[in-house]
Amino acid sequence: MRIGIFGGTFNPIHLGHLIVAEDIRENFSLERILFVPSARPPHKPAPELIDAEHRLEMTRLALKGNPYFDLSAIEHHRSGFSYSVDTVESFRSECGSEAELFFILGIDAFADINSWHEPKRLIGLCNFIVMSRPGFILEEALHFCTSTFGIRAEPGSRQIPLPNGHFLYLEDATPVGISSTLVRDRIREGRSLKYILPESVASYIISNGLYAEKRKF
Ligand code: ATP
Repeated sequence: MRIGIFGGTFNPIHLGHLIVAEDIRENFSLERILFVPSARPPHKPAPELIDAEHRLEMTRLALKGNPYFDLSAIEHHRSGFSYSVDTVESFRSECGSEAELFFILGIDAFADINSWHEPKRLIGLCNFIVMSRPGFILEEALHFCTSTFGIRAEPGSRQIPLPNGHFLYLEDATPVGISSTLVRDRIREGRSLKYILPESVASYIISNGLYAEKRKF
């Protein structure tokens, strides 16, 4: 089994997340991708972060219709901050040693991995797929490999050996200039949400009045 783990705050989930996840599923022949909304993200305690239950439900709605995409509420069932290292370890023991795990993240998130909880332990737990994202330079991941993990990566390399026989892959995904920040801004400005996130998610946001209040700062 080749299983992708795609974590995020999904505040809210948008078409960018879905398009690049489908790219990765195809390109890496993954049998499933588990979307893992972060219940209590240590990094995004911003006033804009809405209730975990809403983010979970929106993710569930967004994944409907793709048999390869599954929702995992693993971080909702755990207390304390939602650390990726704990999540990957749980999947590791749940899926058994036969399963090949691929942790999927954008280059913007990877660039920040130094500030994550126990990044050196995390990088030794499974394979990593770092995806391109408009506005960021994918090749900078090579620099972060060296500066953060002391892993020497050849210039131009797209497959970097990690500890424990795993690999870190750099992958070009469809460039989609959508972010959750953009979605939240558009809601506050009363602008259209069409073609930015699934209609079911847009309806959920509107019927629950999410993200609508004005900025407090
Ligand atoms: P925000 O704007 O609130 O920071 P976001 O759009 O980056 O949110 P997250 O839920 O924080 O969304 O992202 C989860 C993961 O998805 C991260 O690894 C991020 O890099 C990746 N990601 C999000 N949007 C895109 C995109 N348009 N293209 C490529 N990767 C993306």
